[in-house]
Amino acid sequence: MEDSCIFCKIIAGEIPSKKEYEDDLCLAFHDINPRAETHLLIIPKKHIATVKDMEDKDEPAMGRMLKVARDLGKKFGLENYKLQISVGKLGGQEVFHIHLHLLSAPN
Ligand code: 5GP
Ligand code: ZN
Repeated sequence: MEDSCIFCKIIAGEIPSKKEYEDDLCLAFHDINPRAETHLLIIPKKHIATVKDMEDKDEPAMGRMLKVARDLGKKFGLENYKLQISVGKLGGQEVFHIHLHLLSAPN
């Protein structure tokens, strides 16, 4: 838990969110400012600022995030969608806690 991180606060329940899925390694919730009809964020429970900061031992959490994306895509009936991870400020990253965007596309 990183004190100044909004996503860590969401994990801790200190900031409310519309949660969609949770397990031992990750959490999924709806983006507060959706850019698509369905816009979910899937994050590791461990605070990792960017993909660049990921350690080899974090591989199971990263794999789990993709699995959760697959399951949520199915749950929301999405035939097509986009998965996006921004890395670094110039890469479009605003929140420095790894997150996988799941954005629905027109079916
Ligand atoms: P980034 O630009 O870092 O890839 O994406 C950050 C995302 O987090 C943005 O899409 C933004 O709308 C979302 N976001 C920022 N703060 C909050 C928050 O407090 N709650 C939720 N649910 N989403 C947030
Ligand atoms: Zn964090």
